[in-house]
Amino acid sequence: MVKYSIIVPAYNEEKSLQLFYDAVTPLMGGLQEEYEIIFVNDGSRDATKQILNDLAEKDKRVKVCHFSRNFGQQAALLCGLQEACGQAVIAMDADLQDPPEVALQMIEKWKEGFDVVHGKRKKRKGETFFKKATASLFYKFTRKITGMELQRDSGDFKLYDRKVVDAILSMNEHDRLLRAQTAWVGFKQTCVEFDRPERVAGETHYTLKKMVKLAESGIFPNTDYTLTFPIKLGVLLGVLSVICFITFVVLTCCDVWFGGLTAWLFPTVGALCAVILVCQGMANIHTAMIYKEVQNRPKYIIEEKRNFDKE
Ligand code: UDP
Ligand code: MG
Repeated sequence: MVKYSIIVPAYNEEKSLQLFYDAVTPLMGGLQEEYEIIFVNDGSRDATKQILNDLAEKDKRVKVCHFSRNFGQQAALLCGLQEACGQAVIAMDADLQDPPEVALQMIEKWKEGFDVVHGKRKKRKGETFFKKATASLFYKFTRKITGMELQRDSGDFKLYDRKVVDAILSMNEHDRLLRAQTAWVGFKQTCVEFDRPERVAGETHYTLKKMVKLAESGIFPNTDYTLTFPIKLGVLLGVLSVICFITFVVLTCCDVWFGGLTAWLFPTVGALCAVILVCQGMANIHTAMIYKEVQNRPKYIIEEKRNFDKE
């Protein structure tokens, strides 16, 4: 039985793939246990397809899926998880920014009993200040808004136990960010730290637009805050308008103040806006419930059962 599956999304990685293979196979071979490397060619336009087919021809432990077009790294990772047979599955980038020797440390942690091992980046070479700053902002914001324990400073370089893979595959949603789903499923998680080197060849595929899309996929499926925000705002505005209105009435009755028509417009317009926001918010809560139904995530995930065996 295959013990380890390495899954590798690859998009236009012709210069990295052989180097990746040469770096990973001796290390995995040293474990003396069965392993497979699943490359998912995400609709590359360079020689990636040919190189992967050659590797698969020479080495039967190399398995390859070619996408019909570019579906994105998250789709490629999903495909890897679906095709993997291993008891432990390790997701790695093809550009050697996820050092193979760190994968061995992850395996050690897995043998100690951890179900998820995150690769945590200490230093990140070759990344702009902008990328680091936006990534840090994304993690802070997403943790706050979703309330999930999203692992800081880690991408998709992780080891997953088979039961975690199965739990993630039971989440059927279309828009997905694997690292957010990993936080959602729970289980025993830990991390190993590493200094992230520069790409071995080629350039990053992540433009600002793609990063924004990724952030959306991390945030929106994991919180209904965006939909319930108007009702909170509406209630707040309504309360403020009522307080303002009562204050004006009291001041006028006590002959302390008599504001002109313009002053009375503030609580009136505020109250009207509050009504609109609350109505919108109620419709949104309904939408959030429908979204949850459509998303159809498991209602809970059991980690372990005891004494349930039938006699
Ligand atoms: N990748 C992919 N599809 C894409 C973009 C990237 O499969 O549309 C792969 C890419 O080949 C690499 C990994 O995802 O193996 C990470 O991509 P990249 O190195 O460009 O991201 P960065 O490390 O700069 O965040
Ligand atoms: Mg990279």
